[in-house]
Amino acid sequence: NAQKLGGNTFQSYTQDMNAKVAHWLALENGLRYALERNELELHYQPQVVIANNQINGVEALLRWRRDGQNFSSPAEFIPIAEESGLIIPIGEWILRTACLQAKAWQTAGFNHITMAVNISARQFQHPEFTKLVATTLQQTGLEPHFLELEITESVAMHDAEKTIATLIELRNLGLQLSIDDFGTGYSSLSYLKRFPISKLKVDQSFVRNMVSDTNDAAITKTVILLGQSLNLKVIAEGVETAEQLALLKQFDCDEVQGYFFSKPVPARDLEKLLSVREI
Ligand code: C2E
Ligand code: MG
Ligand code: MG
Ligand code: MG
Repeated sequence: NAQKLGGNTFQSYTQDMNAKVAHWLALENGLRYALERNELELHYQPQVVIANNQINGVEALLRWRRDGQNFSSPAEFIPIAEESGLIIPIGEWILRTACLQAKAWQTAGFNHITMAVNISARQFQHPEFTKLVATTLQQTGLEPHFLELEITESVAMHDAEKTIATLIELRNLGLQLSIDDFGTGYSSLSYLKRFPISKLKVDQSFVRNMVSDTNDAAITKTVILLGQSLNLKVIAEGVETAEQLALLKQFDCDEVQGYFFSKPVPARDLEKLLSVREI
């Protein structure tokens, strides 16, 4: 081993790589069967309007309970699903499940709750994506207006002309569109203004230290102003403290999402949150 060879860094480097590759392959293989084994579920995190403290939407976040163990992190397995192409069938399941849940909430009387669904690069660039969304809306009976699709800033800017065309198709279905992780990619403002979107999501990396770091506060404030001038709603992600909320309110941010209000939770727990807050 590396130790015996006097800490041969090349050998320990390759061992490290091998371990990483093995881990990746194990996850990919597990993910291949995750759907049929019913290991996937969606959790829902409330989005709260600052002005009236009401939940007006949720974000669906994928959870994978692997071999009966704890949840693996989507930050780890979504890239693997993306790379392997498994995101296509999994993404279809996510979209259908989220729309069915949103429809169920509409029927149950929680009739102002928007369902935001994360869309990965490969899904968004798939030639049949708009068709899939249209079919899913039709089959689940969800009013399009209650569906919001989130694409990240980097995906949106990757081929911006093509993005505009796809976003227009999607927008014509009557749903809403938002730009996720805003501020972490390279946005061209001339493209941003042409995107038919309704919302910007300020990335949580800026919100995290905005109370102590004046640069992060300045960036957050600027994104909010940018959103306002483009007539977009702005939501801040990763809000964990009352101090962050107060500052966001001062900056005139529209909505917040974060552990301060709730972690992402299973549908039944979300319903409890909705019931309590609506009394
Ligand atoms: P994202 O779309 O930006 O989602 C926000 C992430 O921040 C979620 O992590 C959420 O649990 C976490 N979060 C929310 N509030 C707080 C907070 O106050 N503090 C902190 N520290 N974190 C908070 P999660 O669920 O682990 O997902 C990570 C990323 O994985 C997502 O980032 C998204 O890019 C991707 N992802 C998750 N679910 C899906 C999905 O269904 N489809 C696709 N394509 N990607 C997904
Ligand atoms: Mg909303
Ligand atoms: Mg998101
Ligand atoms: Mg985000």
